[in-house]
Amino acid sequence: MPALAERLKDVTVSPIVAMSTRARALKAEGKQVISLAVGEPDFPTPPHAVEAAHQAALRGETKYPAQDGGVPLKTAIQAKFRRENNLDYALDEICVCNGGKQVLMNALLATVSPGDEVLIPVPYWASYGEMVKLAGGKPVYVNCPQNNGFKLRPEDLDAAITPQTKMLMLNFPNNPTGAGCSREEMQALAAVMLKHPHVWILTDDMYEHLVFDGFKFCTIAEVEPRLKDRVITANGVSKTYAMTGWRVGYAGGPKAVIKAMVNMQGQVTSGVSGITQAAALAALEGPQELVAERAAIYAQRRDLVVEMLNQAPGIVCHKPEGAFYVYPNIASCLGKTTAGGRRIETDGDFALALLEEKLVATVHGGAYGMSPYLRISYATDTESLREACTRIQDFCKGLS
Ligand code: PLP
Repeated sequence: MPALAERLKDVTVSPIVAMSTRARALKAEGKQVISLAVGEPDFPTPPHAVEAAHQAALRGETKYPAQDGGVPLKTAIQAKFRRENNLDYALDEICVCNGGKQVLMNALLATVSPGDEVLIPVPYWASYGEMVKLAGGKPVYVNCPQNNGFKLRPEDLDAAITPQTKMLMLNFPNNPTGAGCSREEMQALAAVMLKHPHVWILTDDMYEHLVFDGFKFCTIAEVEPRLKDRVITANGVSKTYAMTGWRVGYAGGPKAVIKAMVNMQGQVTSGVSGITQAAALAALEGPQELVAERAAIYAQRRDLVVEMLNQAPGIVCHKPEGAFYVYPNIASCLGKTTAGGRRIETDGDFALALLEEKLVATVHGGAYGMSPYLRISYATDTESLREACTRIQDFCKGLS
């Protein structure tokens, strides 16, 4: 067989895949697996979005779509940025992409040259580093310790920036920790970035609406308008409107970078399907009550999961501000043996043994760059969460 491309040599397959494959195999054997591994809302897409897609298909919006997104959807995104983020983007400063993932990849491809350094706070969403490598860049990881709520410290950010730094990636509320960034904390990060005008900022705001207990979301271009001409504000409908399968993401940013992102996308995938765009438009312009109602349900689930995990011997679970993940520390479980005789040396061992012995699928912290932790998604119904946490408690009680 001829050789594969050089650019793939450092790109790893997500360790999450191995876990999901094993969970599926156990399910196929008829086992009652509960998955806390997927980062996907368990709610349905709002019916008015589905209906809008249906109508768009019937109207014949089935031809090649505009590469940057149709004017109606871009206008709705413009209104959303103004209404919710106090950000003013012209229509040519907005683009629509095939999911939040493509927004991020387009943004990296448009800005990062071979060898450029991209700062990624740790723990990170598993795709960030791999995307940077695919774009030819060099991921530079900056630790965000648990004792700082898994948030990036300004002094660590400052110390990590070099003349080769091209971009900083931000993600609050965060996958995998759920950490939110207050306005004050964001101001401190922005103050550092003002000192380094050669660095782009790519902020991934996918979990913007999933914040709890009155926590206020903020985004860096709004907090520090002097940074706006080097910020790409990325967002999408996947998490807010339970529309993961529709594949709509969008970005606001300087005209030149948005144009570059659109040109690239035009060569690779073309624009987002007109049917999907109609659904996203309806979601953005339709009733928004559902968003807050669902966030309130996620908040209750977070409280349940944090409380039950903290009752499991050896687990310490931090209570995060948002998203639908918790990131419990399992350090005290290491070096022990499970009731089934498995030795736990790493968080990967823990996650695998938990799946095999208690049929609960989670993801080990190593997949997100910080061990020994688990990432637990609570985008699952309350009864399943209660049962899964009871099994985790039993698993921990069985460790010796
Ligand atoms: N950014 C973060 C932090 C995510 O967790 C995800 C999905 O899990 C995405 C981006 C990708 O979003 P989309 O499904 O719209 O591509």
